[in-house]
Amino acid sequence: MWMKLIYPRWPKLPEQTEFHLPPHGPIVFAASVPPEVHLTFHDDNRGEPDLEDRPDLVALSVMLTCQVPRAKEIAGIYRRRGIPVIAGGIAVAIHSEEMAQVCDAVFLGEVEGHFQEVLDDFRARRLKKVYDRMQSLPPIEAVPPARREILDYSLYTYRGVRMVDLVHASRGCRFNCPPCSVAFLGGRCFRPRPIERVVEEVAGIDNGRLFFVDNSLAQNKAWELDLFRALKPLRRKWISHPIEADDEVLQAAYEAGAWYVYQAITAPTEGIRRRIQMYRDHGIAIEGTIILGTDDQTREDVIRLVEFCVEMDLDMAEFTVMTPFLHTPYREQVEAEGRVLHNDWSQYTTGKVVFQPKHMTPSELQDLYYWAWDRFYGADGRQTRMARLFRKVVQREKQDGTTTMPDGTVRGWVRPGQTPQIPDSPGHP
Ligand code: SF4
Repeated sequence: MWMKLIYPRWPKLPEQTEFHLPPHGPIVFAASVPPEVHLTFHDDNRGEPDLEDRPDLVALSVMLTCQVPRAKEIAGIYRRRGIPVIAGGIAVAIHSEEMAQVCDAVFLGEVEGHFQEVLDDFRARRLKKVYDRMQSLPPIEAVPPARREILDYSLYTYRGVRMVDLVHASRGCRFNCPPCSVAFLGGRCFRPRPIERVVEEVAGIDNGRLFFVDNSLAQNKAWELDLFRALKPLRRKWISHPIEADDEVLQAAYEAGAWYVYQAITAPTEGIRRRIQMYRDHGIAIEGTIILGTDDQTREDVIRLVEFCVEMDLDMAEFTVMTPFLHTPYREQVEAEGRVLHNDWSQYTTGKVVFQPKHMTPSELQDLYYWAWDRFYGADGRQTRMARLFRKVVQREKQDGTTTMPDGTVRGWVRPGQTPQIPDSPGHP
């Protein structure tokens, strides 16, 4: 049986440098596909797929709302020729009814332990329209290493250098922030993977640079410390979402290879200033993630916030506009207030204003968004800042005796069972 897995493309923010990371959702899903299934993978972001072929089954892995229109288009092309299509992933759970209308089956929830049933139904020609497993999340111990061998890594380079590999150490989040659907997806429950499984997976990745895509590592101090101490001997360098603002944790993170964090900057407060300084004191760089147009921001507030990012000289910054995604607390509110402008999901990229902001017009917010990118990157340019960030990781690698080659492989790293030779702490830059 041949199953073709497709990751639909989406429009990138034109303000960003275009690069492509190897996707994570498809390789996590692929680990649950039994070996007797002949599985091929196509990332639609990295080239036109052959949509005239005849796999036995097409599976769509859909992460973002703005991938939904393309996912529907691909599903239509195959189904018109009688080839069944199933779909899963975060955006399918969020847009379940819409996707169920255009697919033979949709899978909602986390796939581990559940996919055999779907395959059995497919083989018996009794696919159900909806496999809803949102309320029966698999035990986190059951999550196997992702199946990276389906990826063609030659597609994921930037200027000849291999991009970071994505990996996860936990699922879920215990918070419920207004613009976020993670609580809907995971029930406000933080589920850390067993640390030995994380170490095993990281050790098996032939890349010295990683991105922990966990929603936020700052969920449980004891777990963070254990995780970082276990990662340290592997000598990888990595990016993540926030880490606990705690000296002991940040020191352990630095020693474990923390390169830079994505940190939400919501307002120019003393608290966030201190947090940024703490990362810096521990040698960890910062990419700010800044949402513009929240209900508490006037035009002047947005300007102050952007100026704050300039003043703090963040290593990088990513500006987005507030977006009312389905199944978020914010969506409920703006819908009740009649402030959603449209549901054209292709525009839900976080680079386009799709709602009526509270204290300005949509076009004022749109202009502020363009201005924010220009203001922050105007003088240096994005490439210069990226190069600076890149030099930091190369420096760190030199300090602890590793060298990452352009193909991602590393000289000097440690595999499980080997005794690590850790040099004395080089201190912080
Ligand atoms: S925004 Fe981050 S911290 Fe807030 S609920 Fe979502 S994942 Fe959790």
